[in-house]
Amino acid sequence: MKLKLILGDQLNPQHSWFAEPREDVVFVMMEVRQETDYVLHHAQKIIAIFAAMRDFARRLHADGHRIHYVRIDSRYNRHSIPDNLTALLTRYQATEFAWQAPDEWRLDRQLADYAAGLSMPSAMVDTEHFYTARDEAAGIFAGRDHWLMEHFYRRMRTRHGVLMSDTGKPAGGQWNFDHDNRESWPGMPWEPADLRGRHDHSALWATIQASGARSFGEPNAANFAWPLNTEEALQQLDAFIEHALPHFGRFQDAMSVKAWRLFHSLLSFAMNVKMLSPRTVVERVQAAWRDGAAPLPAAEGYIRQILGWREYVRGVYWHRMPGYDQLNAFGHTAPLPWWFWDGKTRMRCLATAIGQSLEHAHSHHINRLMVIGNFALLAGLSPQELHRWYLGIYIDAFEWVELPNTLGMSQFADGGLLATKPYVSSAAYIDRMSDYCKGCHYDKKARTGERACPYNALYWDFYDRHRDKLAGNQRLGVIYQQLRKMDDGTLAALKERAADLRGRLAEL
Ligand code: FAD
Repeated sequence: MKLKLILGDQLNPQHSWFAEPREDVVFVMMEVRQETDYVLHHAQKIIAIFAAMRDFARRLHADGHRIHYVRIDSRYNRHSIPDNLTALLTRYQATEFAWQAPDEWRLDRQLADYAAGLSMPSAMVDTEHFYTARDEAAGIFAGRDHWLMEHFYRRMRTRHGVLMSDTGKPAGGQWNFDHDNRESWPGMPWEPADLRGRHDHSALWATIQASGARSFGEPNAANFAWPLNTEEALQQLDAFIEHALPHFGRFQDAMSVKAWRLFHSLLSFAMNVKMLSPRTVVERVQAAWRDGAAPLPAAEGYIRQILGWREYVRGVYWHRMPGYDQLNAFGHTAPLPWWFWDGKTRMRCLATAIGQSLEHAHSHHINRLMVIGNFALLAGLSPQELHRWYLGIYIDAFEWVELPNTLGMSQFADGGLLATKPYVSSAAYIDRMSDYCKGCHYDKKARTGERACPYNALYWDFYDRHRDKLAGNQRLGVIYQQLRKMDDGTLAALKERAADLRGRLAEL
């Protein structure tokens, strides 16, 4: 008998393992505290993964496959993947063990070590999900200090013939339409209705709670909105293409208190657990553009996220792990203020972005980057603590994609491997791209004084504190020119205000 392990983020029904049922293969899936507890997770993330795993197992069984599913409340559950495997290998008198390549370093090591200790043949196989191999980006960037995403992305477009003309040129004569994609949202067109199907997972949620697994955030168990399987994910993809994609590009960076999702696809969870193939998504979006259903800047902007960013950050992760999670280029150590866990801050932008995250286990990219991450970097929060927070709160958070985004792109903690300059801003950017500042307790224009928006003083203080690391960066020339022109009194007042803010983050 061959025992084949399927992890909770390996729900790919197209995998060649499932081509036809075999009597001599038993697939194993398990809900374990090892996986619920490695970081404090949002309730919806635990529910979504277990519910999707159960659905996947049911379908495999219905298709005639042999499957052994260990539930979170099973008395035989040892809550550790290796311990459960040992028991099951004995139980099935297995003679071979196989697993799909984990996407997280922690699991990759654990399973490799485990298999090395077995006295039977074992093999790791590909997940058959990504466009690129783990080490492909490292090959493309060999010998370079900075990994420019654009370079990688163009290679991917050419290699996979995506949005390319017959002459080998990019469709529309341009690789990148980013300059068309920077608009704030005036309230029209309407945010598309949330057409996701709903499920009642109250019973599963009760079982998870009874297991002792800790969590935070709104479970929304009785009216659960995240897709459970490929069919539901495809329905969501179709609805996105029809109703949101045409506006995706223009409003990609917009933020609003009135629309938590705006024109984003909400497909990251489905893709990251592999129920939805990135190739399917890219092909359907490309087809929508060819059919005239979406403008090229929107299709290109969307495809860039998947064929570009998603594959690229994975390459960064595998190239820099282990050790990448410990980087802290600015030496930031402040703990996360408590309002990261309840959203109760008077800064309206942060209250909104964190509030959405607690409610939906999701917030779109610009909230993650330019509201939450921006504040964390300006305030000097520990990138390691922040990493654990992002890894726990978002439904789509798996370390291979979350870590480079948080530590690299958002916190510049790797010293600039991923980002050419820190993603920070004062209130002016947030105000330009959102309606957050209207009605905020703080004054977006003021830089000092009790009601001045904290982002303003923290922004200048950040650049001043880190002159030694950043002043030589050509992209920051204008900022440092402004700092040089600033009179001593102004800078001293900004730094005093920033020190005061940093000393009482919890009260903001
Ligand atoms: P859309 O805006 O509709 O984009 C489409 C798809 O493109 C996404 O589903 C995703 O698969 C991909 N994508 C977009 N941006 C990125 C990116 N920067 N890196 C990799 N893929 C991208 N994404 C995750 O999937 N998991 C995470 O844990 C995660 N953590 C993040 C942490 C920070 C600090 C930041 C700044 C970004 C993070 N992202 C993460 C990237 C991005 O914010 C999410 O992929 C996106 O918000 C998911 O929502 P969506 O499906 O509606 O995305």
